[in-house]
Amino acid sequence: MESIEIGRSGVKTSRVGLGTWAIGGWMWGGTDEKEAIATIRSAVERGITLIDTAPVYGFGNSEEIVGKALVEGGLRAKAQIATKLGLAWKDGKVFRDSRKGRIEQEIEDSLRRLQTDVIDLYQVHWPDLETPFEETAEALQKLLDKGKIRAIGVSNFSPAQMDAFSQVARLDSVQPPYNLFERGIEADVLPYSTAKGLTVLSYGALCRGLLSGRMTAETRFEGDDLRQKDPKFQPGVLPKYIAAVNALDKLARERFGKTVVALAARWVLDQGPTIALWGARRPDQLNAIADVEGWKIDDAAKAEIDAILSRTVPEPIGPEFMAPPTQRPAL
Ligand code: NAP
Repeated sequence: MESIEIGRSGVKTSRVGLGTWAIGGWMWGGTDEKEAIATIRSAVERGITLIDTAPVYGFGNSEEIVGKALVEGGLRAKAQIATKLGLAWKDGKVFRDSRKGRIEQEIEDSLRRLQTDVIDLYQVHWPDLETPFEETAEALQKLLDKGKIRAIGVSNFSPAQMDAFSQVARLDSVQPPYNLFERGIEADVLPYSTAKGLTVLSYGALCRGLLSGRMTAETRFEGDDLRQKDPKFQPGVLPKYIAAVNALDKLARERFGKTVVALAARWVLDQGPTIALWGARRPDQLNAIADVEGWKIDDAAKAEIDAILSRTVPEPIGPEFMAPPTQRPAL
């Protein structure tokens, strides 16, 4: 598995990371703990040593499952855990809170759930517009100095927000949405990160499964699955995205002897200092990862991909629907 250093932290990790939001269950129609544990272990055994989680995924559940899978499987030393801070919840409602006092408590909760004494990468989940970025950065730099975390990251931050943050703390990475259909960061965050030496952990690399190749225009979702609300998965829109996936799959097979899911992850890796986060909740969903290694998408194929996208999805829809509210409720 290809590897990369996260910023200037000295933490080396795999360029494909396992995303464990769905493993937490919340917003993904529930979870099966046994399958989830098998998926995490299978990932590490395949060389996917970066495991990305967050306290809010299943309100603690994802972190607990990650901790259990790694510790009971004797795999903690082989893996790098990336978790997050700064999203709180009350009565099932999520809000942003990256105040200093809360971080001091939040890290202890994460360390306990993850059954570890150090977090390899600690990331601010969403910018908290009601707290100065400098306050959050100072709290994280202290955790780094104390050895409780090994690298500092942000997620969903703009370059201006990262500038303010990095006045006070060493910033190693950023985690934005990035995949073949959601390319907003190419205008700002990606060139900024490349210039500043930040590693880009691309989330939704498979566009919430759309780029897996398993979906059809008739695919529907159950329970609280966020794809019921995702604008790309709506009946009038989904067929356009499926047409794009089918055309990309044809290109992947004809040019590279691969399928669209491998093309989607490879494409993210060939765009810069990136990591592709691959969300999975069953071990078999990781089989195609073996096809991501050992090849590159040349410029001619990249141009063909762009032509397919502008023909099939001329007005792409962004991932903005996922953003939590910016205002903190009165508690
Ligand atoms: P994703 O990786 O684009 O898609 C994950 C989904 O794709 C899986 O749950 C699964 O869907 C499907 N899938 C994966 N492999 C498949 C295969 N081989 N065949 C068929 N289907 C397959 O989406 P994501 O989980 O939202 O993003 C990845 C990770 O990024 C998350 O888990 C999380 O760690 C992180 N993330 C971070 C933020 C943030 O704000 N920082 C936001 C979103 C995500 P089914 O469940 O339907 O099987």
